[in-house]
Amino acid sequence: MTAAEQSATVDAIVIGAGFAGIYATLRLTAMGLTVRSFDAADDIGGVWTWNRYPGARTDSLHETYCFTFDRDFYNEWAYTDIHPDQSEVLRYLHHVAERFDLRKLYTLSTRVESATFNEATDRWDVRTDSGEQVSAPYLVTGLGLVSAPIIPDVPGLESFGGELYMTANWPHDEVSLAGKRVAVIGTGSSGVQVISTIVGSVADLTVFQRTANWVARTGNRPVSDEERQGIRQHPEQVWDRVRQHPAGWPWEPVKRMALDTPAEERERLFEEAWEEGGFALLYKTYADLSTDKAANDILCDFFARKIASLVDDPVLAKKLTPNHPYGAKRPPAAEGYYEAFNRSDVHLVNLTETPIVSFTDKGIRTSAGEHEFDVIILATGFDAITGAFTRIDIRGLAGERLNDHWAEAPRTYLGLMITGFPNLFMVAGPQSPFANLPPGAQGQADWIANAIAHMRSDGIVRMQPSMDAEIEWTAHLDEIAEGLMTRYGEAAGSWFTGANVPGKPRAYNVYFGGHNVHADRCDAEQAADYPNFKMSQPVSADV
Ligand code: NAP
Repeated sequence: MTAAEQSATVDAIVIGAGFAGIYATLRLTAMGLTVRSFDAADDIGGVWTWNRYPGARTDSLHETYCFTFDRDFYNEWAYTDIHPDQSEVLRYLHHVAERFDLRKLYTLSTRVESATFNEATDRWDVRTDSGEQVSAPYLVTGLGLVSAPIIPDVPGLESFGGELYMTANWPHDEVSLAGKRVAVIGTGSSGVQVISTIVGSVADLTVFQRTANWVARTGNRPVSDEERQGIRQHPEQVWDRVRQHPAGWPWEPVKRMALDTPAEERERLFEEAWEEGGFALLYKTYADLSTDKAANDILCDFFARKIASLVDDPVLAKKLTPNHPYGAKRPPAAEGYYEAFNRSDVHLVNLTETPIVSFTDKGIRTSAGEHEFDVIILATGFDAITGAFTRIDIRGLAGERLNDHWAEAPRTYLGLMITGFPNLFMVAGPQSPFANLPPGAQGQADWIANAIAHMRSDGIVRMQPSMDAEIEWTAHLDEIAEGLMTRYGEAAGSWFTGANVPGKPRAYNVYFGGHNVHADRCDAEQAADYPNFKMSQPVSADV
């Protein structure tokens, strides 16, 4: 047992061992706080420990998928590809944990089951599934956006006699798919990465698609030495661009409008962005694609023609072409995805025509008949953003359950704190920006660390946002999302809105107003000594 494991009272408890939790742990420890950190996984790495499926890699760019708090440490690390794969990101996070000696602070393979704010002590009492109880004045969550997987509610799953895998909980041991008849259910980011990676190596691949997706190319390639040296000479330039970009990308935000551009010029720019891949189509072409449906239609028309040119069978191409605006759902990327469907050993089952009826001992029965498989892979997504919170019994002032507070929709201020839940700080929590995760997580954890330092220096025992601030932030977030293609997310079944989970309250779960705008607001709040927060001295009763 490590020293950390023995201590039941500490200054801060952190939940999560992904980018958010690791950095919060690092930052709070560096301030001199005693910290206990927990994660349900058996190792450091967050989403990258669970999602080890074939083809898992980030869509973010290598120079931004890391921490930037230390220039030398930043310059030490080198990812191989411009979109690092799962194994390298995991190695990076292990490297961070080891370099800053964070492992000893983590209790792994341990799920936090409940967290209750104790009004008598002004501390969070946390209980884990191992029965351990720990208390601390500050509770910091880095629970991850996509950490609560959903298993489809289809009869007979347990009766399947073959191998069953979930992308979100992929075995650590090698999985051999070679020569097997494989089904993949789901065509989100995870599904399309698996599909385009295993195609050709399995005997037969059947893709069960409920909603077609706009799958951009990744444009992945190795990072050249020249690029790496350029970045290392002036990393601050990358960091500045990331800080100023709405999605935390190292690119200049575009200002030109698709609707003001001649058709041939648009076509040329879309082609260029298609070749570059990833988010270039959205972030490097036109500013009105996300705000103006007519502009978005032009991009979708380009994309639909692209699909038609890549898929030999026009009927199949049509089935693979979405009917929601680009960006209504989180757009995935994969290399060679559409081309895979030209192969005779790849089949598409369009679930809008022939829905799944049940799993059987041999495979999957749709309304058109039974398909037999050796392996079924569920790439069916997550109770995203809020799911990781609502699966924990979190209780704030007067015993209020977070699940009740969020019964109709998540409500926070800046995605950082919740009214009635003092000293509960969230890194990359609900209502925080939809953006490249590491820079946002680092900025938010810095904000939290500074807020805690402020509390400690001023003898503040409770900090929580005002109800007005929470209401204002939620209204602002809704207004922004309603002005973007995200307003079509519910119809498209997007996790942005909770529409992918039956019975989940429909609400915008993430902030689309920009990573940069959010960071500005957080900075302003801090600079003005937290005007939208209630700070309480000891022996207060501000319920
Ligand atoms: P997802 O985007 O929610 O996709 C889940 C897929 O499963 C959808 O196609 C969904 O269909 C389908 N599905 C769900 N339940 C089903 C059912 N009962 N029957 C048939 N199909 C069903 O989940 P994900 O692909 O795991 O990705 C989640 C998020 O994680 C991404 O949006 C992204 O933010 C992140 N991620 C990122 C990367 C990356 O950066 N490269 C990779 C993986 C994941 P419907 O669309 O009809 O609901």
